[in-house]
Amino acid sequence: MYRGLRTEIQRITLFTGFCGVIGWLVGEVAWCLIAGGALYSIFLLRQMQRFYVWLSRYSEDPPPSSSGIWGDIFDAIYRMRKQQAQQQDYVLQQLTRMQDSTAALKDGVVMLDKSGQIGFWNDAAGRLLGLRRAADEQQLLTNLLRDPQLAQYLQREQFADTLVIASPVNNGDTLEIQVNVFGDGEKLMVVRDITRLQKLEKIRSDFVANVSHELRTPLTVLKGYLETLQDQRDAVPPAWHKALDHMQQQATRMQHLVDDLMLLSRLESHHTELRRQPVSLERLARRLVEDAGRLAPSHQLLCDGPALQLLGSESELLSAFGNLVTNALRYSPPGTTVRLRWGEDPQGVFFSVTDEGPGIAAVHIPRLTERFYRVDGGRGRADGGTGLGLAIVKHALARHGGQLEIASAPGKGSTFTCRFPAAAAHREASAAAN
Ligand code: ADP
Repeated sequence: MYRGLRTEIQRITLFTGFCGVIGWLVGEVAWCLIAGGALYSIFLLRQMQRFYVWLSRYSEDPPPSSSGIWGDIFDAIYRMRKQQAQQQDYVLQQLTRMQDSTAALKDGVVMLDKSGQIGFWNDAAGRLLGLRRAADEQQLLTNLLRDPQLAQYLQREQFADTLVIASPVNNGDTLEIQVNVFGDGEKLMVVRDITRLQKLEKIRSDFVANVSHELRTPLTVLKGYLETLQDQRDAVPPAWHKALDHMQQQATRMQHLVDDLMLLSRLESHHTELRRQPVSLERLARRLVEDAGRLAPSHQLLCDGPALQLLGSESELLSAFGNLVTNALRYSPPGTTVRLRWGEDPQGVFFSVTDEGPGIAAVHIPRLTERFYRVDGGRGRADGGTGLGLAIVKHALARHGGQLEIASAPGKGSTFTCRFPAAAAHREASAAAN
C-alpha cells in the first residue's frame, strides 16, 4: 500500500479513537464521533481548496506542504508538471532549431494549414514569393499569389508533380513549386528559383535544334549524290560497291537521327503550341497497322478498341504511337503477334502496344525514356534505331497531359501503354448530352 494512504488511514483511525475516548469521558460518544467527522470533512475541504489554488496558478512553484494522501497527490502532480515543462522546453528548442535551419536554406519553405492559410515561411520564401512578415501571416496563399495555375495545383491535390510558375516578384524569373502533405492535411511547400536552370536548358535545346537544322542541308546534298551514284551503280568500280552501300546506310541513319532530334526539340519547346483536334484512335491504329504491314510483313498485327476520339495533335500522337509499334516490330521475332489496344478505363484513356518479344529487365525500365539509352546498344543501332524513340513518346504524351507506362519482364514480352487524362476524351455534343 502507498505510504501516504497508510498514514491517512492511521490518521483517521487515531482521530476516530480520540473522538471516541472524549465521547466516552463526557458520555456523548455518538455526538463526539459526528463532530470528529465534521472536523475531518472541513480538513478535506481545506486541502482541496489549497490544491485547487495551487493547480490554477500554472506556475512551477512547489506545491503546499502536506502529509498523507494529499501529500502524495501534490507530489505526483508536481512531478508531472515538471516533466511537461521540460518536454515543452525541448519541443520549443527543436522548433527554434528547425526555424534557424530553414532560414539558412536557399530554397523557400512555406507551411500551409488545412485551409491553405500561411502559417510559417522562411526568409528565402519571403524573398521569392514577396511575402511580408506580420501582414501576410494567416492569409490564404491563393489570395496573395493570384496565379490560376497555383490555385489549380493546390486544388487538384496531386502533388507527385512539381509546378512551374512565373515569379510574382521578378519579371522573367521562374519558380518551381513542390508540395508535400503532412499531419492533418497541412502542406509543406518548397519553392525553388529555377531561372538559371531553365536558361541553361534552353541554351542546350536551342543548340541541339540549331545543330540538327544546320546538319540537314549538307546531309540532304550527300544523300542526293549517294542516290545518284547508286542509280549509276554500273559506272562505279565494283570495289566501291560495298563502301557505297555502307555510306548510304549511314547517311540514312544520320538523317533519321537529325529528324528525331529536331522533332524532340520541337516537342520540348514550350513555345510550340499544341493544336488539339478530335483524333480517332481507331483510324490512327489502322493507319499504323497498314504502315507496319509494309515494313514487317511477317508479323501479325491485331487491333482491339472502341470508336473513341482523343483531343490532341494527330501528327504528335501518330509519331508517339508509331514509335511504339516500330519498336514492337523491331525487337520481337518475325512470326509473332503485336497487339494494339485502346479504350477508356477508370484512370482515363489509354492506347497500348503489346509484343511477344524478349521483354526488358526491371532495372532498365525506369531509364528507357532517356535519350540514347539502349538495353542492348549494338542491337538497337544495327536495327536502325536512333535511341530517341521513347524520349519522343514521353515528350509527345507530356504535351497531352499523358504519360507512358511500361510493363515488361524478360521472356514475357512488353506492353507500352500511353495514358491520357479522362478529360482528353472527345465526345460529340449530342453523345455528351445523353
Ligand atoms: P531505339 O531507337 O534504340 O529503339 P528507343 O528510345 O525507341 O530507342 O528505345 C530505347 C531502348 O528500349 C531500345 O534500344 C531497346 O533496348 C528498348 N526497347 C524499346 N522498345 C522495346 C520493346 N518493345 N521490346 C524490347 N525492348 C525495347
